[in-house]
Amino acid sequence: MTNSTKRDLHVLIVGAGTSGLLVAQGLKKNGIAFTIFESETSTTYQTRPREWGMTLHWGASHIASCLPEDLAARFHEAYADPSLTPDAVTGLPIHNGKTGDLILEMGADQPVRVSRKKMRNLFSEGIDVQYGKQVVRAYVIEDSSSHDNGRVKIEFRDGDHAVGDNVVGTDGAKSLLRESIVGFEDAQLTTIPVNLFNFSYRFDPELSLRIREHNKIFINSIHPDHGTMYWLSIMDVPDPDKPETWSFQVMQSWNDNTTPPSVDLATNEGRLKFFKARCEEYAEPWRSVGRAVKDGTTIPMDRLTYWEKSKKWDNRGGRMTLCGDAAHPMTPHRGQGLNNALQDASNFVSIMVSVSKGSATLAEVVQAYDDEVLERGQTEMDISLKQSYFVHDWDKLMQSPMVKIGMHQVKKGEVEESA
Ligand SMILES: Cc1cc2nc3c(=O)[nH]c(=O)nc-3n(C[C@H](O)[C@H](O)[C@H](O)COP(=O)(O)OP(=O)(O)OC[C@H]3O[C@@H](n4cnc5c(N)ncnc54)[C@H](O)[C@@H]3O)c2cc1C
Repeated sequence: MTNSTKRDLHVLIVGAGTSGLLVAQGLKKNGIAFTIFESETSTTYQTRPREWGMTLHWGASHIASCLPEDLAARFHEAYADPSLTPDAVTGLPIHNGKTGDLILEMGADQPVRVSRKKMRNLFSEGIDVQYGKQVVRAYVIEDSSSHDNGRVKIEFRDGDHAVGDNVVGTDGAKSLLRESIVGFEDAQLTTIPVNLFNFSYRFDPELSLRIREHNKIFINSIHPDHGTMYWLSIMDVPDPDKPETWSFQVMQSWNDNTTPPSVDLATNEGRLKFFKARCEEYAEPWRSVGRAVKDGTTIPMDRLTYWEKSKKWDNRGGRMTLCGDAAHPMTPHRGQGLNNALQDASNFVSIMVSVSKGSATLAEVVQAYDDEVLERGQTEMDISLKQSYFVHDWDKLMQSPMVKIGMHQVKKGEVEESA
């Protein structure tokens, strides 16, 4: 605490995803100057070929501090099904995929499914996003003859640049800001041998109703013979009374060591054939879902990643830091990435408020912020990784974090005891 006068600050935010936009809203609410840059154009931002839903649970408590009251009151508009209330379900039911028997309900704090796209659109209201600005590099200016000496500069692919007092990288799992801070090698992610099919689909009204009979927002199953996880969740409900308008998120994930040698995952035809063959081994409604997916449907596949090389980074005296997936890209099987991103955003805003009030220096508060984000991020990357392996191994399923702690937030030290 060295600065006692109110300071003018200008924060640069790189990436208009959920975390970047929430930071922007929080800074705006507190009268702190910022500029937010997004690599996509305003058109491609709205027409992304891939969108997904996310389970929001404990992280919801970090939203209201950043949003203005009117937007916070409209938050349900970002739900996959805006007609539901946060207490609509108590947890995620997990079934034996072969028999359909319910194994357990994975507990969570008021889980709701939110749409990534709807959340971005709600959080961008009132925010002047600079679209089409892909940041390629960020650094602290070291030029004693410049009046910007000691401030931070970001450079864009189009040759343009911007200068501010500090920069926060909210540019997602493949963050370029992370590369600028820790260097190319140390920023790289580790790929694990777990494959994920993830796409959205609209079914006929009868099947749509049947899927939601079990649980209003999601149902999951694990197949005992090969450990494949087969997930169905509600993704969009334009009209609650018209099931033909609903779309669902369909995911299958499995450990690559269970992929039969004859399967061709390199082509869409091969992936679709494999997806449908797997579905035939499942009980209802998972089997019918496979049968309903039409020939020619695109089945995107990802290999899961996380930041194994994560370690304390040099924030250049508080000038450069990370938030959200940029800081802790993790595997998705415990549904924690968004929830942690929201906590990061809210924490970042509150440290900027203390700097702007003159009650702390950038260097002090960003270091404290970084230490907490790193510890929480590493803890969750680690436990989510365990979950991603255990969930695909029937024999270990009952020892998995999912069974022992559900989706609840875990503190450092609880990991070993609970996983
Ligand atoms: C299949 C799947 C399911 C998931 N399910 C859940 C769940 O149930 N619960 C949960 O909590 N989490 C879940 N997650 C994780 C969640 O999606 C992420 O943690 C969350 O979206 C991260 O938000 P973000 O704002 O940090 O990053 P992003 O949403 O990725 O936003 C980053 C933004 O930065 C922009 N950008 C990128 N590079 C640049 C650049 N160089 N310059 C400028 N802009 C740039 C991008 O275009 C993007 O708009 C899931 C993830 C996946 C893949």
